[in-house]
Amino acid sequence: MNNWENNVRKVTPYVPGEQPKEAGIIKLNTNENPYPPSPRVRQVLEEALENDGTDRLRLYPDPTSEDLVSALAEYYKLDNDQIFVGVGSDDVIAMCFLTFFNSDKPILFPDITYSFYDVWADLFRIPYKTCPLDRDFNIVKEDYYAENGGIIFPNPNAPTGVETPLSDIEEIIARNPNSVVMVDEAYIDFGGESALPLIGKYDNLLVVQTFSKSRSMAGMRIGYAMGHKKLIKYLNDVKYSFNSYTMNRTAIALGKVAVQDEYYFNETRNKIIATRERVKKELKALGFTFPDSKSNFIFATHKEKKAEDIFKALKKAHIYVRYFKKPRIDNYLRITVGTDDEMDRLISFLKDYL
Ligand code: PMP
Repeated sequence: MNNWENNVRKVTPYVPGEQPKEAGIIKLNTNENPYPPSPRVRQVLEEALENDGTDRLRLYPDPTSEDLVSALAEYYKLDNDQIFVGVGSDDVIAMCFLTFFNSDKPILFPDITYSFYDVWADLFRIPYKTCPLDRDFNIVKEDYYAENGGIIFPNPNAPTGVETPLSDIEEIIARNPNSVVMVDEAYIDFGGESALPLIGKYDNLLVVQTFSKSRSMAGMRIGYAMGHKKLIKYLNDVKYSFNSYTMNRTAIALGKVAVQDEYYFNETRNKIIATRERVKKELKALGFTFPDSKSNFIFATHKEKKAEDIFKALKKAHIYVRYFKKPRIDNYLRITVGTDDEMDRLISFLKDYL
């Protein structure tokens, strides 16, 4: 018997939402944007194919991803050295865990939150402690005043959609000058208030965002962190010790033009916000309750029907939503906000079913 398995890094992996192969389903289970990316993205992709075909793929991409970083810097009025880019915010956050969470003290995050945080903590052998949300799924800021080796939470939180007031976030950052505090703003563009204005004031704050939701580019895998240049330098040191070429040529080129198309960005996110507010009213009328969502999903529970049953019935009808069989949230459905037409079909199914 060989025992190389004794030396394996054993982990329980994160389970992403289903990506069904069949056509014709209404996909409201992984918080993607129902609208296509900016038309500029398509145009640049077509131009690139016409001009040099695939020839440039012979060459490594720019390890600094300067075109993309500069476009982000211009959009957010920052310096390039305040921005770090990666392969989706998952890559960026994982890199941050590796770089900044190296204390013997536990890192802190909410008990109900993005279910990748505990996976990364386990992967990197980082001790962690979860802080229970209150009954209405709010973060209790005082929990984060305890000794810790770092802090991370999404704002708005996932899968609840609940926003933490910026004043509470600032207090958490100010009370933790010896820890890096990461605010995961994957869903911030759907109505939340970003902590970005605080990065000039606190050198321990990192704000992480993504192209996967509000910029309709989950398939392209682009995420970024913004913070004090010292934080970004440390992140880049770790990145260059791991893989210099995280961002491919296509991601750099398409990400750049997506950021520059502010008009389209505002148009689509406003459409999603409007649809969300309408669907909130319709779900309420059907007997659902939910914490107020500032994201592109609604975390709903029904006063009579079990979430798991609704989830199964919806799936049978080719409407996919997300259900988490986990303590405190096993009677909730996370419903991504799709197009108006998709949401009409969801509501119409629910009306019949209920
Ligand atoms: N943070 C949160 C809170 C999320 O819900 C997601 C999406 N699964 C991510 C980060 C990662 O998104 P991406 O890697 O696509 O940027």
